[in-house]
Amino acid sequence: MNHFNYKDDHLFCEEVSIADIAATVGTPFYLYSTATLTTHFKAFDNAFSQPHITCFATKSCSNIAVLRLFASLGGGADIVSGGELFRAQKAGIDPKRIVFSGVGKSADELRSALSAGILFFNVESYQELNRLQSVAADMGVTAPVSFRVNPDVDPKTHAYISTGLAKNKFGIPIKDAFDIYKTANEMEHVEVLGISCHIGSQLTEISPFIESLRKLKVFLAKLEEAGIPLSYLDLGGGLGIQYNDEEPPHPEKYAEAIKKEMHDLNCTLILEPGRVIVGNAGILVAKVLYTKVGGKKFIIVDAAMNDLARPSLYGAHHAIQAIDRSRGENEIADLVGPICETGDFLSKEKEIPAFEQDELVAIMSAGAYGFTMSSNYNSRPRVPEILVSGSDFHIIRERETHDDLIKGEKIPEFLQ
Ligand SMILES: *Cc1c(COP(=O)(O)O)cnc(C)c1O
Repeated sequence: MNHFNYKDDHLFCEEVSIADIAATVGTPFYLYSTATLTTHFKAFDNAFSQPHITCFATKSCSNIAVLRLFASLGGGADIVSGGELFRAQKAGIDPKRIVFSGVGKSADELRSALSAGILFFNVESYQELNRLQSVAADMGVTAPVSFRVNPDVDPKTHAYISTGLAKNKFGIPIKDAFDIYKTANEMEHVEVLGISCHIGSQLTEISPFIESLRKLKVFLAKLEEAGIPLSYLDLGGGLGIQYNDEEPPHPEKYAEAIKKEMHDLNCTLILEPGRVIVGNAGILVAKVLYTKVGGKKFIIVDAAMNDLARPSLYGAHHAIQAIDRSRGENEIADLVGPICETGDFLSKEKEIPAFEQDELVAIMSAGAYGFTMSSNYNSRPRVPEILVSGSDFHIIRERETHDDLIKGEKIPEFLQ
């Protein structure tokens, strides 16, 4: 369910006409709906009845206003960098609800997270464990640790967003993980608290989650026998959404399947959903600059692959809609941006509305991995982020200026 709906053929976000927002802030821009973010967060979080924390995957949509909204709903954060820790802190997320994931945390990042007092680190290698122990020893504190294991389960999703296969760079192979738990358990400045896995993104079936959970359970029993009981089980994120004709399970079905497997476990469940909460709560709004017919029909808009990388990067599908659909005609065309790359497309060889010059375009399902993956390629200022709440809209990130583009750049003396 989302709050992007037509009223008399004009697309609205909650009670606000999107054309009105475009008239005020210009195009392109990202647009999020507070009601949709809230509904999705609650639907997910409330689906779990056992002790759990929903640690929102910050990388999917990291604006501090969005993070603040989730904090106000009792959410935590899954972070993957010092920058995301900074954002989570600025947003007022309780550090005891923050988990730190990722294969390459620097000593500085480990130090900041230790002083913030996060819930735990998802450690992925011996070298990382040793570094964490030495940073913690320097600081005279104990580091809370969970290990990310790689269960070698096929998530049946795009190769670039599969993370739980033996050939992926993530986690410690579950067959080798026992030794690292024993080592860590003996370290003076490390406290072993949990186990985690994250097998991939945009999963549209429950079975790979359950298959990994079963592998984790067998391993947990072995640890318990060895005198290393754990209090947290982190299942990662990865639940998919509908972009096109996918039929991902509802969070309730997902929660139910997990609950069934976990009934005999005494662990607090940690979840790290990203896409399932924000994906369909945000869109990218652009304007048609030109249309042209070459070998085929092209609609050239003012948004590009630097604003939304997913179509170029993964061949991802985003539904394309007219903000004013009163004409109602469709055609097969490519929706492309102004960037000097053939890979710069937002939709390719699909039936889309027959746009005319200066019309507004909605690129749907862009809330996750949209703005956060955007760049300044071709020296294009990054677009603003707008948050609608009821009948109001708020600029939660300003459009970048040309001065922002060269911030920090310097011409050295010898060139002056
Ligand atoms: C990316 C990521 C997530 C979120 O994945 P979604 O598919 O957006 O739910 C969660 N945990 C980790 C460790 C990740 O890398």
